[in-house]
Amino acid sequence: MTRSLRDKSVIVVGAGLAGLTAAVELQKQGMAVTLLEGQERVGGRVLTIRDGFVDGQYAEAGAEFIDEDHEEICRLIRSLRLRLTPVLREGFGFALSSGGRVRRLSGDGMWKRLAEQLAPMIRAYRLSEQRWDGRVAAELGARSVAEWMKSRRLSKELREMLVGLRGFFLADPADLSLLSLVDQVASGSPGKGGMYRIAGGNDRLPEGLAAMLSDRLLLRHEVLAISRSKQSVRVRVRAGSQESWLRADYVILAIPATKIRTLDITPALPPEQAAAFSTLRYGPVTKVLLQFDRRFWKRRNQPLAYGTNLPIGALWDANEQQKGRQGILCLMAGGQASRATRTLASRTGSAGLVQTLRWLGAPGKQAVAMRMVTWERNQWIRGGYAVFGPGFDPKLRSWLARPCGRLFFAGEHTSLRWQGYMNGAVESGFRAAAEIQADIRFR
Ligand SMILES: Cc1cc2nc3c(=O)[nH]c(=O)nc-3n(C[C@H](O)[C@H](O)[C@H](O)COP(=O)(O)OP(=O)(O)OC[C@H]3O[C@@H](n4cnc5c(N)ncnc54)[C@H](O)[C@@H]3O)c2cc1C
Repeated sequence: MTRSLRDKSVIVVGAGLAGLTAAVELQKQGMAVTLLEGQERVGGRVLTIRDGFVDGQYAEAGAEFIDEDHEEICRLIRSLRLRLTPVLREGFGFALSSGGRVRRLSGDGMWKRLAEQLAPMIRAYRLSEQRWDGRVAAELGARSVAEWMKSRRLSKELREMLVGLRGFFLADPADLSLLSLVDQVASGSPGKGGMYRIAGGNDRLPEGLAAMLSDRLLLRHEVLAISRSKQSVRVRVRAGSQESWLRADYVILAIPATKIRTLDITPALPPEQAAAFSTLRYGPVTKVLLQFDRRFWKRRNQPLAYGTNLPIGALWDANEQQKGRQGILCLMAGGQASRATRTLASRTGSAGLVQTLRWLGAPGKQAVAMRMVTWERNQWIRGGYAVFGPGFDPKLRSWLARPCGRLFFAGEHTSLRWQGYMNGAVESGFRAAAEIQADIRFR
């Protein structure tokens, strides 16, 4: 098997976790691999911020938590001899605001109440074996969560929670399909098992993978166009002011759909596949990392993480595993909260953000350091992660991952079980590598 792979070449586009995983895996199998990355760093949406905080502390401005059932990424982490540190052992709570008052509620309790309201739809969805190409998915996929909320007598708390879930889905109820919500609740509440970060920073994983590729990785190489034929694939690449064509037997596109739809692909993708990439939305999200001289949010038996319906989004302790009196609080403002948080921060700086945290015991003073990253403004990504809104036809979902001749697709958005997660990106990288191996071995 390895002999036939040895005379073959592959170009992987995008050095996020999906592209890095696929490239390392195919290189191990003996293929000639070239990994092209537009930015001057690897990792994509994994971004550990190490500068700007006092006392050597750091925090994640992109992907943060690894759940205990994220098997592929956990295995990959172990294979690189990296360690996982358990965090947020008290889980997530909800902090729901109405009329100027903020009430804290149990995370498990709220998810259970939501599951009760969705029970008939969850049952129908399970009976349809959770397919996205069936009648149940078509009905649920065409409605937004906001429409469903209008049609039901839900308690005020549940309505507030559904707004608060924009910190998780990166979409407000009007922009999220009922199918996405049912799909999530049918598989249980997120983070209900153990949650972890990579010791030393999540960027150690992409950097460890990149080190295995050495000169096969080309940074600041942006792919602009793809030309496919029966025998090979060519890609047009821009590096500085130079443009050139590279050829390989196979290409894996491990870049977000927002970028795939800007590529000039000839011959064009099948219409369903082109429609899948062009109608997939990405959720806006701003992460704010606020460092304080003490962890005022730490209280015995209280969660260190909350989903909220406040304009600052969800929040949690961003570095409980690090030493020092100081601590970093992360605000993750998804959906419309992304803009609200940015506006608040630009008008009032960290003081305005801290004002919204009084319910958490925030002192009346400013943070000692602040960093803010807005992902929809990142020209290489254009959003946080994929969101299935009511404008996306669920039966197109399988087209996001379907190979087209010698062109293969990987990335968080292609994963069925772990979309939106690093584990989905890693799994999709292994999947694309396995598809190419199968194409060579079984052709
Ligand atoms: C704020 C935030 C919080 C998150 N929190 C979590 C979390 O707690 N847990 C979790 O598991 N996941 C989380 N995620 C999701 C996680 O980050 C992603 O699922 C995962 O990292 C995506 O990896 P990827 O390889 O699919 O894509 P990316 O990481 O986006 O990699 C794609 C790469 O392609 C490059 N690229 C784009 N266009 C081109 C081009 N034309 N030519 C060359 N290169 C190009 C980009 O520069 C990028 O490096 C979070 C994401 C965000 C934004």
